[in-house]
Amino acid sequence: MTFGGEPSERPVVTRLNPPPPRRTRLSEQAGLREVMARFATGITVLTAGGEHGHGMTANAFSSVSLEPPMVLCCVSRAARMHAAIEAAGSFAVSILATDQRELARYFADWRRPAGLAQFDPVDWEPGPRTGAPLLGGSLAWLECELSRSYEAGDHSIFLGEVVSSSCGVAQDALVFYGGGYYHFDKQARATA
Ligand SMILES: Cc1cc2nc3c(=O)[nH]c(=O)nc-3n(C[C@H](O)[C@H](O)[C@H](O)COP(=O)(O)OP(=O)(O)OC[C@H]3O[C@@H](n4cnc5c(N)ncnc54)[C@H](O)[C@@H]3O)c2cc1C
Repeated sequence: MTFGGEPSERPVVTRLNPPPPRRTRLSEQAGLREVMARFATGITVLTAGGEHGHGMTANAFSSVSLEPPMVLCCVSRAARMHAAIEAAGSFAVSILATDQRELARYFADWRRPAGLAQFDPVDWEPGPRTGAPLLGGSLAWLECELSRSYEAGDHSIFLGEVVSSSCGVAQDALVFYGGGYYHFDKQARATA
């Protein structure tokens, strides 16, 4: 692995089993997808409330700051969710549990109905602070006021100040890795 900077400044990283030479360049989209697929994440459903009510499966989600409490999510500018968050000025995050794989699929499928009708087959309730749908049975929920947004390539980064948060009774996370859904197995906890 090589890094920029003067030779004396470069960290030395030794890999025990060097991979075979790659033809794909990191800057190529397929290469970036392949690399990011090796980063295991949880899965969320982002929602916006009000007349532009909408939901979307997302794993580009991260904690940003504890004081003040802030999170971010990255949303494609081609997605209906993008306009929904901008119109609402707020969003909510439902962190999915192991048994919510079908919800992840549903909210990633463009054929679902528009508006609040898309929540008809789903157990949900409006968030007390934003009115954005919170999905029943999730691991945890956050409600955020949209603080700032940044254009970033074909996505926008939405920075949200957390105004409400709570945890559910479910304990086991739904995990996305290598393009597939996995159950999080607490029994398989790494001990080494
Ligand atoms: C595990 C997982 C994680 C994801 N994480 C993210 C994330 O972090 N951020 C993110 O932005 N997306 C993410 N997605 C993708 C996102 O969930 C889907 O694209 C979802 O459908 C977007 O919902 P939407 O209603 O907001 O946008 P949609 O209206 O569904 O549009 C999404 C895309 O579908 C296309 N589309 C719309 N209508 C049609 C049509 N009739 N025919 C063909 N194509 C059409 C649009 O052009 C657009 O490119 C993720 C998906 C999965 C499965």
